[in-house]
Amino acid sequence: SLSDKLQNVFKNLRGKGRLSEEDVKAALKEVKMALLEADVNFKVVKNFVKTVQERAIGADVMNGLNPGQMVIKIVNEELTNLMGSETTEIAYRPGQQITVIMMVGLQGAGKTTTTAKLAGHVKKKGKKPLLVACDVYRPAAITQLQINGEKQGVPVFSMGDKNKPADIAKASIEHAKKNGFNVVILDTAGRLHIDEGMMDELVEIKESVDVAQTLLVVDAMTGQDAVNVAGTFDEKIGIDGVVLTKLDGDTRGGAALSIRAVTGKPILFCGMGEKLDDLEQFYPDRMASRILGMGDVLSLIEKAEASIDEEKAKDLSRKMRKAEFDYNDYLDSMAQMKKMGGIGSVLGMMPGMIPGMNSAQVSQLEGAIDDKKMAHIEAIILSMTPEERANPKLMNPSRKKRLARGAGVDIAEVNRFIKQFDQTKKMMKKMPGMMGGKRGRMKFP
Ligand code: GDP
Ligand code: MG
Repeated sequence: SLSDKLQNVFKNLRGKGRLSEEDVKAALKEVKMALLEADVNFKVVKNFVKTVQERAIGADVMNGLNPGQMVIKIVNEELTNLMGSETTEIAYRPGQQITVIMMVGLQGAGKTTTTAKLAGHVKKKGKKPLLVACDVYRPAAITQLQINGEKQGVPVFSMGDKNKPADIAKASIEHAKKNGFNVVILDTAGRLHIDEGMMDELVEIKESVDVAQTLLVVDAMTGQDAVNVAGTFDEKIGIDGVVLTKLDGDTRGGAALSIRAVTGKPILFCGMGEKLDDLEQFYPDRMASRILGMGDVLSLIEKAEASIDEEKAKDLSRKMRKAEFDYNDYLDSMAQMKKMGGIGSVLGMMPGMIPGMNSAQVSQLEGAIDDKKMAHIEAIILSMTPEERANPKLMNPSRKKRLARGAGVDIAEVNRFIKQFDQTKKMMKKMPGMMGGKRGRMKFP
């Protein structure tokens, strides 16, 4: 169970003790190895480690963390930031305007497949997509797009292989206008290697129609090569974003980090298989985990985060002992519970508490802070003034009414929450004896 796992984490943590300064250096060395193993560009790794080192030196070591854990925590955060701290969507043109998306990339990268996958995604967004076959060099390419388009229920515009791709693109826009399509996705031809002819042709297409977004499709398995490809495509034709394909393979995905660092362009989607619904939005934090791998480094981060929680839990228990528990603490404990999976886990970290408490009492506490209600409760607390958060006694009917309006919830829900808060607090007030361990005057019925 989760609680067993947590117990083990803490056992290990205590067993290991504090990391020495050599451990800090060893941690960074390990990170460096993980990045290089994941096929991250050497220059990118060098810069990255330098950045982390600079930030780590200036940073305060957080409570409950030793320097080594702090460094690794920073690594994970910086890695995520480097790939964009949030997911990026297609930027659609407003109103009736047609959004033209041009797919580019080397042959075999997955352009045609991704084009069809993207059509499905666009359709789900309520748009009316049209696929356009601009790859006139391989007859099979047109058929491939038609077959995939049909599977997606999205029409394919094609003029065979006797026309210039730029002319096909232009004609497809007219077709889209006449037939009410508002997203046009151009599938273009790639070559095995970058050559002038391919670049010139892509530039010509881009100049012949009003392209809203040029998306580069790269094969994650090609690692370092993908980075060079991305750099050249961006330089020659300009790209707005990247789709990383074949991440279902065993690549560690270092290309993602390098491409982002080299081009500064966001990664929008990941290809996770050959099937047409194997397209996922790109999550920088997931990619950071993947790049770092599941080895020692990540478990160290988990330990670091767990020890922050432990420190916070101790702080909370100090406050409870003094019955100082306020709405700020409630917010803190909610954040922890989200991470740790229930109040039982948080309580489990408070020394001497669980032994005196039976499971019914834990679940009573858990019931008071149900997952589904969390979002509303959070909104209610966030609608409070700092004074109200720090001093629960200030609460009164007119304040409650204001909170309901601020949080956009029913007044009854505010009342219920305030009542639960007071009850929880009362319960906590009874705990000091239990938590002190020896005095043990508290006995639950
Ligand atoms: P294009 O030459 O760039 O148009 O590439 P294609 O779309 O024809 O894809 C080349 C090959 O890669 C095909 O066999 C696809 O099925 C395969 N492919 C594309 N995307 C993915 C993916 O995300 N995962 C896997 N495993 N295969 C993919
Ligand atoms: Mg193709």
